[in-house]
Amino acid sequence: MTAASLSVAIIGAGPAGAYVAERLVRKNPAAQIDVIDRLPTPFGLIRYGVAPDHQGTKNIERVLSRAFTKGDVQFWGGLKVGADLSLADIQANYDAVVLAVGAPQDRRLGIAGEDLAGVYGSAAFVGWYNRHPDHFDLPVDLSAAGNAIIIGAGNVALDVARVLAKTPAELSGSDVPPDVSRQLQSAPWERIRVVGRRGIEMARFGVVELDEMTRLAAAAAKVEAADLEGAEIADRALAEVWARMATAALTGRPVVRFQFCWRPEAIIGSADRVTAVRFRRQQQGLDGAYFDAEETVEQAADLVVSCIGYAAETCDQLHPAKGHFLNTDGRISTALYTVSWAADGPTGTIATNRPKSHAVADRILAEVTAGTRSGRAYLTKVAQQNRASVTDFAGWQAIDAAERAAAPADRVRLKQLPNTIASL
Ligand SMILES: Cc1cc2nc3c(=O)[nH]c(=O)nc-3n(C[C@H](O)[C@H](O)[C@H](O)COP(=O)(O)OP(=O)(O)OC[C@H]3O[C@@H](n4cnc5c(N)ncnc54)[C@H](O)[C@@H]3O)c2cc1C
Repeated sequence: MTAASLSVAIIGAGPAGAYVAERLVRKNPAAQIDVIDRLPTPFGLIRYGVAPDHQGTKNIERVLSRAFTKGDVQFWGGLKVGADLSLADIQANYDAVVLAVGAPQDRRLGIAGEDLAGVYGSAAFVGWYNRHPDHFDLPVDLSAAGNAIIIGAGNVALDVARVLAKTPAELSGSDVPPDVSRQLQSAPWERIRVVGRRGIEMARFGVVELDEMTRLAAAAAKVEAADLEGAEIADRALAEVWARMATAALTGRPVVRFQFCWRPEAIIGSADRVTAVRFRRQQQGLDGAYFDAEETVEQAADLVVSCIGYAAETCDQLHPAKGHFLNTDGRISTALYTVSWAADGPTGTIATNRPKSHAVADRILAEVTAGTRSGRAYLTKVAQQNRASVTDFAGWQAIDAAERAAAPADRVRLKQLPNTIASL
């Protein structure tokens, strides 16, 4: 590196980190960018959050790969900031640092029974069916599961409902791991409820994703006509899907039932395992605010997945507040920046990360001058101390090829865990 090269460390190789890197080298081809991830694999939630049956969406990895292969960008997988190296040391050795660490923690419901067996947050449950190293061994047992309750009214709730409701044939071409497939196939589902706290017009389901629920091979998606009465659904395409669902015949199994205006009040169990959820009816006042009504209902549940959002987690000595790292237009403090889910909380799609990441990259280029810090020389030393576990981008490409080669006939890949990756 010449003295004039800008050195930037990006912590987190999810889409936000990749888009920052892409922009920095495009605008400053001499910049030296190191993208550090705690996992040996890049792409964050694209690999471990996006549903395994949506391989078309996961294919964005191919486009994002260019961020790691153009200019002087290097991927350092398997280094956790806060464990293997400190944020302070990174700051001391780079001209600028970007926290692109996402928001990996489940928001809690904060109600009784949340810790019963069979109750999961979506980060854990989605991580389980996506074989995330933190969650692949979640003790999920669906062998007697007739009723699932999914709490939340966004696309993550739809992902979970769809993965549960699909037939084995519909999961062909996915990367659902074999042990998860066995669990999904063993579940004698009768009813999968997707329950929103507020009215149907407040649901944040995408029209394509909701429509997909009406086109499943065996399952029947249903909403009560009463939930649509008086609801002002601005998106006409979405309103059409709901109308179709309200009049649909209930011929399929399982029934995926959408319910609105029910607030989960307690999760009920016996012998430490969930058996039901008690909901309290919500009513809307003239001012539009929702309030508790008298009516409560208890609905049977063998599995509960809460999909109510995520929060950022502490990165070394830096603590998030209200679920994200406080910042002003991406800047936390001098030469320390943050972006996307880490900066704003869990809102936005892969595509919306791009302009946000580019804005932060542009800000860095405008505010930070290249210094003479050690940059990559420092990181190389750290990596040497962690030699067994550190992967570069070529290492990831080898993992990718090995996973694809090991895929069972009806799967696109067989995801490896970090301990097996180390021996590839
Ligand atoms: C279940 C789910 C499904 C989704 N499905 C879709 C979809 O179908 N389509 C769509 O457009 N969007 C989807 N999204 C949204 C999309 O995934 C996010 O917009 C995007 O991933 C956010 O990018 P990010 O880079 O900020 O965070 P992340 O993707 O979470 O990346 C953060 C990275 O930081 C790393 N990291 C964290 N802490 C450390 C540390 N201390 N040291 C080093 N590295 C660290 C993590 O390992 C991770 O790789 C989905 C989100 C979820 C949760």
